[in-house]
Amino acid sequence: MQNLWNEIEAAGFQGDLQQRVYTSRLLGRDTTLVMHGGGNTSVKITEKNILGIEEALLYVKGSGWDLEFIEAAGFAPVRLDHLVKLAKLKELSDPEMVNELKTHMTNAAAPTPSVEAILHAVLPFKYVDHTHSDAVIAVTNTANGEQRIREIYGDSVLIVPYVMPGFDLARMCADLIERYLTDRMVGMVLLSHGIFSFGATARESYERMIELVGRAEYYLKHAQAWDVVQAEPPTDVPVHLQDIVRLRAGISQFAGGPVILSTQRDTKSRAFARHPDIARLSQQGPATPDHVIRTKRVPMLGLDVPGYAEQYKKYFDVNDKLSGVGKTMLDAAPRVVLDPALGMLTVGRTAKDAAIVRDIYDHTIDIILRATALGGYRALPEKDIFDVEYWDLEQAKLRKSGKPPAFTGEVVLISGAASGIGRACVDSFLARGAAVVGLDINDAVATLLDRPDYCGLICDVTDEASVQRALEQAVLRFGGLDMLVLNAGVFPPSCNIADLHYEEWWRVMNVNVDASLALMRLGHPLLKLAQNGGRVVVIGSKNVPAPGPGAAAYSASKAALNQLARVAALEWGRDNIRINTLHPNAVFDTGIWTSEVLETRAQSYGLTVDEYKTRNVLKVQVTSQDVAELAAEMCGPLFARTTGAQLPVDGGNERVI
Ligand code: ZN
Repeated sequence: MQNLWNEIEAAGFQGDLQQRVYTSRLLGRDTTLVMHGGGNTSVKITEKNILGIEEALLYVKGSGWDLEFIEAAGFAPVRLDHLVKLAKLKELSDPEMVNELKTHMTNAAAPTPSVEAILHAVLPFKYVDHTHSDAVIAVTNTANGEQRIREIYGDSVLIVPYVMPGFDLARMCADLIERYLTDRMVGMVLLSHGIFSFGATARESYERMIELVGRAEYYLKHAQAWDVVQAEPPTDVPVHLQDIVRLRAGISQFAGGPVILSTQRDTKSRAFARHPDIARLSQQGPATPDHVIRTKRVPMLGLDVPGYAEQYKKYFDVNDKLSGVGKTMLDAAPRVVLDPALGMLTVGRTAKDAAIVRDIYDHTIDIILRATALGGYRALPEKDIFDVEYWDLEQAKLRKSGKPPAFTGEVVLISGAASGIGRACVDSFLARGAAVVGLDINDAVATLLDRPDYCGLICDVTDEASVQRALEQAVLRFGGLDMLVLNAGVFPPSCNIADLHYEEWWRVMNVNVDASLALMRLGHPLLKLAQNGGRVVVIGSKNVPAPGPGAAAYSASKAALNQLARVAALEWGRDNIRINTLHPNAVFDTGIWTSEVLETRAQSYGLTVDEYKTRNVLKVQVTSQDVAELAAEMCGPLFARTTGAQLPVDGGNERVI
């Protein structure tokens, strides 16, 4: 455990609250202590209020803030004496507790205080730090965890038995603190939950946390339970894409809506999935209550075993009986799937959620294996898990989350995504909640965006093997394919038929038609399994209904693509796949239309650039974004009853009308 305190850095944070910000960030930098908004910190400060009266305040981490990036604004100031009085109440429901926290803040714009605020308030120290340290939890989540904690810490920490986070835990801690806290104590261990440290300064409290967690790590190392050696997984079993796609379809069905399924094939995940005792280890439940909402229990199944859907069914029936609350999407679905051949697969309503589950379970694997090496992993008792899963606060959170964007949980593949209409499509689909796979021969596609719901792949769509590899990547990353935008194409320089050679003709045909055929053929088995039905949008051209001289290869290729789409509409209807075509014209905000080219063209018609750009019936400009928005809408519910359609997006063209 590394102490990250740095004098020079720390000097940049002046004052009690700023010091609190600094050491909170230090804790946040270490994922073995806190992750994804977990853990919380506080500082007690006396301030004059607007009447000039001195008031003791607890500045405690607000919900929605991550310790790693927290700022002063991330701490909610709550009146300390009120919090201390609350801890004396016999009973307080969790919604009532949150109401008290929110109504006793001194800044209306501050975030909602952490649900562990009362616990921070009753600790009689200026600074309080709380983490869910992997090492501490690995020790407490064993058969004789409490005894081991005593062995490690002697009488330097207060030990608190497991109680679900919320008012009951705060009240019990207040009671234990009043009765058992001594001068020798520098921290508090909450069994199966985490650890607190405290001190007079930010540095003291932080360094005590590092020291306490370091002792747990040393204990694990000494007991040969630190470097948990796992056998290298046997040589790779080939992954059948369709297995992953079917698994996602099954989970989506039970979740009541599409989900993202992300596959981890690293050595650790695969080795854990093949652990000889995996069936027992993985079925015990989560490591700490904070992780419950996302990880739940882990159904373990081999996809080579037929009838996996039945296994799921059994699992969900059990959950349905226990929950007894209105089911929100994903409430009953598994979050992690371990498969001996595939590795670890994580499920989320969004790609970001699936990535969070991946991070949490990655740490859970360490905890499970270390606790096992200590003599046996023990998760929370079954009843407590369900208490946490459906406790008032979590339910309130779910109710508040509102209606998700239209394509939440869905995956779209867009060809030619690095620029122009393809690039605009990336934004339009992301804005509607889809996870996006962008293909392009231009390597800029790989670094277009850095976010968990975007995956840019360099791909020559005219090379079938390259397309196949891209689809594999898409399935490993997001679990399948719901929508396809066939956008990649070339627009060759003007050339009359008399001069048109086969070489040029085939080059245009190859990109504009053959490549689309490959994407359609290889994508079809994936689109067939889309929860809401597969959808394809073809970016055609005005040249289909109204070709132009000098554009024989281009017009013929787009016409061939158009006919291909129409036949697909006929063939794929039975698979619940819709395919529709857009015919844009004069979209000038793409790479080929430099201002120079535009000026030359406009001049040749005797027009200004503006006149040239709006040369249509409505006298409007058509942008990449206009086309992209329509492409996205064509995949949405508005077009649910439409297939085989062709729609111009050109401002009105007299030859087309
Ligand atoms: Zn906690």
